[in-house]
Amino acid sequence: MNFSIEKNVPLSSLTYFGVGGKADELVRITDIQTLPEIWAETIALKLPHFILGSGSNLVCSDAGFRGRIFIIEAKRTEWKENVVTVETGKNLQQFILEAAGRGFSDITNLAGIPGTVGGAVRGNAGAFGSETKDCLQSVQFCDENGMIRILPARECLFEYRESIFKKNPQWCILRATFRLTNKIERDTAMNNAQKLIQERWQKYPPGKCGGSFFKNPTTVPDGAMPYAGWLLENSGAKGDQIGGAKFSEKHANFLMNAENATQKDVLELARKWHKIVLDTYGVSLEPEVMLIDEYGKRVEI
Ligand SMILES: Cc1cc2nc3c(=O)[nH]c(=O)nc-3n(C[C@H](O)[C@H](O)[C@H](O)COP(=O)(O)OP(=O)(O)OC[C@H]3O[C@@H](n4cnc5c(N)ncnc54)[C@H](O)[C@@H]3O)c2cc1C
Repeated sequence: MNFSIEKNVPLSSLTYFGVGGKADELVRITDIQTLPEIWAETIALKLPHFILGSGSNLVCSDAGFRGRIFIIEAKRTEWKENVVTVETGKNLQQFILEAAGRGFSDITNLAGIPGTVGGAVRGNAGAFGSETKDCLQSVQFCDENGMIRILPARECLFEYRESIFKKNPQWCILRATFRLTNKIERDTAMNNAQKLIQERWQKYPPGKCGGSFFKNPTTVPDGAMPYAGWLLENSGAKGDQIGGAKFSEKHANFLMNAENATQKDVLELARKWHKIVLDTYGVSLEPEVMLIDEYGKRVEI
């Protein structure tokens, strides 16, 4: 069997935030070939469905999920010299270290970002001026009819934390192909990646969260810095708590599950500071973390 189905699985145990009730069904796929049939069947049956990568960017509903959550555990890589095709479930950090082990440093800047390769492609994850799209050649995905399709990277509508896959939640990313060109000495590439991983994890506030809660705004008024963290800190968000949800004392844009937080706590706190920043600076912050309801629909702040 290349997939398994578990019933009544708590989503809090599958997400970094540690928030979320029970999902009716959790489908774990170990072989990508299995996905199209069950994916198309789920959509045809009109069952609510949602793909979970490693859950590092999600706040699930307190009511859980009334349908099928898919986890794709396929994580093979296939190298042809400097071109590598990676299955969606591969841990991004492991992929970066594997590339560094071959002397490629193109994607080193992303080292330390948690999650899967599929999650990184979908959200065009980035850090230190680099983004997942930078050396991406193409993406293979399964559409709502179970058809396997390939899009060249230039047609994936990548922008800051955006892609065509975000706009089409019924498309499931299967594989990503990267063309790596920046080759350096193997040990240097490995040391750089490992150093970055260590540095980034030291900077993150300890505890349960989904990384930066809000995206950085594109425009801000004169005198303000174009960072969500700056706007929140200068509005006074650091340390504020509602229920179990709290803005970190260390980094104002890290909204933490400090103490058995519920999605309701997270939403109340996020909405409160969204309004304060809007009133103070005229900037409407957009969440980077994804909040979903029990049918997989995005919950607006
Ligand atoms: C401590 C911390 C630090 C972070 N720092 C950064 C950072 O510096 N830069 C950054 O960009 N992000 C950062 N993040 C956010 C997070 O790591 C990224 O968004 C990551 O790419 C999410 O990957 P994931 O596999 O965990 O996806 P999940 O959180 O599981 O899912 C996120 C979204 O992707 C979708 N998805 C997942 N897999 C697929 C697939 N195969 N096909 C289609 N859709 C899919 C899900 O349905 C969901 O909508 C951080 C998070 C944490 C907890």
